[in-house]
Amino acid sequence: MSNNLMNSEVWIGVGGNQGRPQQLVSDAILSLGDLHGVELLKQSSLYLTAPQDFVNQADFVNAVALISTSLTPMELLDELQMLEADYGRQRDKKRYGPRTIDLDVLLYADQIINTERLVVPHPRMHQRGFVLKPLAELNPELIIPGQGSVLELLSRCTEQRVSKL
Ligand code: ATP
Ligand code: MG
Ligand code: MG
Repeated sequence: MSNNLMNSEVWIGVGGNQGRPQQLVSDAILSLGDLHGVELLKQSSLYLTAPQDFVNQADFVNAVALISTSLTPMELLDELQMLEADYGRQRDKKRYGPRTIDLDVLLYADQIINTERLVVPHPRMHQRGFVLKPLAELNPELIIPGQGSVLELLSRCTEQRVSKL
């Protein structure tokens, strides 16, 4: 595969709060790199984070990964959803509730995508300490299109508990 077909600034958010989440999140990041057409470039530390929406559940483990990929955004989403299924995620469970592994496309190069199945940049990433803190560890200057720099945005979510493991 020639390198110029690779989009090399694709950021994936990884999280989970069931089973052994540290192990599962680490494994899921490695599994990303094993996908056909995906190269794992960087991964953040793991962070222990307070659940944001349904608060009466276990803390989450979150991280972000930087990949390069020859997959289109939709092909990538398909692969991520298959990986989630491999990791035992049950799709009938309610959104924001407990899950083994959640894999979200945060940013796909400089693309703006607004389809029913895929919205990029991820529409809630700029308000989430559990996304911004690991992103800031790898690239504090990173710009979320239409929102600002990761560092600037992170300074607005100080009330969210996010601690490096
Ligand atoms: P949130 O999107 O707030 O983080 P979630 O990750 O828990 O919530 P899911 O249940 O994983 O939500 O996904 C719900 C749907 O979101 C998926 O079926 C998928 O089609 C859609 N979706 C839209 N944009 C994205 C994106 N950027 N990354 C992953 N899924 C997305
Ligand atoms: Mg999510
Ligand atoms: Mg998701």
